[in-house]
Amino acid sequence: MAAQAAEWGDSTRAIHAGSERCKPYHALIEPLVQTATYTFRNSEEVVAYQEAHTRGLPTDRLEYGRYGNPTVAACEARLAALEGAEAAIQFASGMAAVTTTLLALLRQGDHVIMTDDCYRRTRQFCLEVLPRFGIETTVVPLGDYEALETAIRPTTRLLLSETPTNPYLRVLDVERFATIARRHHLISVVDSTFATPFNLRPLEWGVDLVIHSATKYLGGHNDLLAGFVAGRAEWVTPVRELHNILGATPDPHNAYLLLRGLKTLSLRVERHNQNGQRVAEFLAEHPEVEQVWYPGLPSHPDYAVAQAQMRGFGGVVSFTVRGDLWRTARFIDRLQIPYISPSLGGTESLVIQPALMSYYDVPPEERRRLGIRDNLVRLSLGLEDADDLIADLRQALDGLE
Ligand SMILES: *Cc1c(COP(=O)(O)O)cnc(C)c1O
Repeated sequence: MAAQAAEWGDSTRAIHAGSERCKPYHALIEPLVQTATYTFRNSEEVVAYQEAHTRGLPTDRLEYGRYGNPTVAACEARLAALEGAEAAIQFASGMAAVTTTLLALLRQGDHVIMTDDCYRRTRQFCLEVLPRFGIETTVVPLGDYEALETAIRPTTRLLLSETPTNPYLRVLDVERFATIARRHHLISVVDSTFATPFNLRPLEWGVDLVIHSATKYLGGHNDLLAGFVAGRAEWVTPVRELHNILGATPDPHNAYLLLRGLKTLSLRVERHNQNGQRVAEFLAEHPEVEQVWYPGLPSHPDYAVAQAQMRGFGGVVSFTVRGDLWRTARFIDRLQIPYISPSLGGTESLVIQPALMSYYDVPPEERRRLGIRDNLVRLSLGLEDADDLIADLRQALDGLE
């Protein structure tokens, strides 16, 4: 990160960090270098590049698109600055960031501890894919730091958590998590997608690596898929080496869109935070709503930790509607502003009923064991006016038979 970027506030970093002051063609905006590969003038240039590359010396040119691209590199520098990290890698999706990072840092015989209420595909990767490589995972309840520490074995290598979680918005005490990892010489990794670097910077609390699905708030416009990992170069370098082999490389145009989205991150997250808080407060008072989960409500189990470590709590609110699965579905069908769609963090409000979306193929008993209630709704508030969102929710709830 440029020296001054460390001193800048979030909005300035989101617009300027990692950019050269003088760009090609004197363009103001980071150029979109839409190329798959790079050319060499002659064999001498090839040899000079190879010599520098094999000795690990810096070179001022690139070889092939999977190993680097100027637009992607600019986006990576911006992402690193936003998290206060030494280095970052952008991926084609959030899951590519999760899987490449874990595969790079784990070996046969290693053990992982992860917290529950996590992204379903991450849990599947840890519990169903990693065992094929001789890597075991133990799941412990988020918030139970004694269970976390008790689960540590001599072979444990990595602790993995998310914050806030999906769908119950549980908030990790990031400092406590990082301290446990450090005490036992383990790598700590936090998927901070729901928090955004505006609301929480896990690295500042001592975590080793932070992961994001940039598909959500960072892209912010529901028009791209991306992910990234950031942290100290010591941890990021082995991930990049495996990334060059596995190849979940983002397209340059994707990096261009993400850079564009990042410029308004602070403004957008402030509005997401406001909409989240106002809608959560409205829902908590409505007689047709059974329970609301939002870290900005004093009723939330992690309210105190959230107040101490986060600046705001984002735009996702989860709640249960009085009644069964189908009454809840009827409520969702009455909504006129949020679209029924499985993502979050963008300009458009989106809503899902997890039992009918992400967990449809899971048998009801198993669903209940995972804590997914039939009448649970996950609402991702976009950037619309809070008054309009509240009016829409009110008419949908009030009109329920
Ligand atoms: C969406 C999401 C992912 C996966 O990201 P993709 O960009 O969809 O691959 C991982 N973790 C969390 C917390 C997410 O919300």
